[in-house]
Amino acid sequence: MDRISVMKPWLGTAESDAVAEVIASGWVAQGPRTAAFEQAFAEHQQAGHAVAASNCTTALHLALKVAGVQAGDDVVLPSFSFIATANAPTYLGARPVFADVEETTGNVTAQTIEAALTPKTTAIIAVDQGGMPLDLEPLRRLCDERGLALVEDAACGAGSTYRGAPVGVGADVSAWSFHPRKLLTTGEGGMLTTNNEQWAQRARRLREHAMDVSAADRHGSTLAPQESYGEIGYNFRMTDMQAAVGLVQLSKLEQMVVRRRELAARYQQELAGVPGLRCVQDPEYGTSNYQSFWIEVSRPFPLDREGLLAKLAEDGISARRGIMASHLQPAYAGHSGYTVALPVTERLTANTLILPLYHDLREEEQDRVISSVLSASALTAAGA
Ligand SMILES: *Cc1c(COP(=O)(O)O)cnc(C)c1O
Repeated sequence: MDRISVMKPWLGTAESDAVAEVIASGWVAQGPRTAAFEQAFAEHQQAGHAVAASNCTTALHLALKVAGVQAGDDVVLPSFSFIATANAPTYLGARPVFADVEETTGNVTAQTIEAALTPKTTAIIAVDQGGMPLDLEPLRRLCDERGLALVEDAACGAGSTYRGAPVGVGADVSAWSFHPRKLLTTGEGGMLTTNNEQWAQRARRLREHAMDVSAADRHGSTLAPQESYGEIGYNFRMTDMQAAVGLVQLSKLEQMVVRRRELAARYQQELAGVPGLRCVQDPEYGTSNYQSFWIEVSRPFPLDREGLLAKLAEDGISARRGIMASHLQPAYAGHSGYTVALPVTERLTANTLILPLYHDLREEEQDRVISSVLSASALTAAGA
């Protein structure tokens, strides 16, 4: 019996051909393919500007920096997220302050964010967790009233929509990931999008050592102009090999979303009505790309999360614990930004698990996952 993985990227010969072309061109670092990928991504996401980065963590770092976050500021964000969300402000000397989430989407809301605001808060980071769109409009109003920068961690969100538009559109600046755990992958890679031209220009310079002329532009001229460095920057560049893969992947994104939504709908249908089991679902205001398909188990489901993970593993199925809670990690032990109770975060992080879902998952494989969960629910209920 083959083991079923929890996730797999959808890559093929078009991607390898695109990389081979870049290598043959002799220009492999950040250059024309990266610029083309940025333009295509900006168009696809309805963003004024897109700036490629080495990954989403560095894109978030740049997003906070161009949004004006400084050492000593507070940035309110969910603990219920991959830890990079909390680490990004920390890199700038700002303090992450943890907000709770609501249970149906696993996302922050205007209420949970407002409850965690401090006098030093200058920005918030809202996450489209696992690809579930967050309810942006109430957050937009809150941030506008208080003069806060609204940063969207859309790491998982390419292909998800909010009120008919791509997620990320309504934030001041958004950050995206192209890690293989997400839908669209470049191996490692990230993007920043914004409608603020000055922020985009500054991010573009900062990701390349804050050089005023890009390496690609200098290479293009015979007598290279003298470059200057206006502030202390970073090396957060993407390579053209990655961007070439990204362009192919972007052209396949809609297909990926359709397939994932079909598979998610099958899980939702087949697992509906199992007592003590809840599937993540689209909110009324948007559609998910189902980057992660999670379920919550609670009584009267006969197994707890760890028990169900073990049962799935026995049946040759790799599932994963659900989204982490950063405030429970040793890295944030004793952290002063843990100021409000996070009951929903703690409940979800303990009781959720992620089921296999990826483009090439076959129906018979998904059937195996469904039967394993159903048999866990039936067998143990009778036996225990
Ligand atoms: C994956 C992820 C990140 C980090 O993305 P990288 O590209 O690996 O840096 C940040 N935030 C969230 C919510 C993520 O899921």
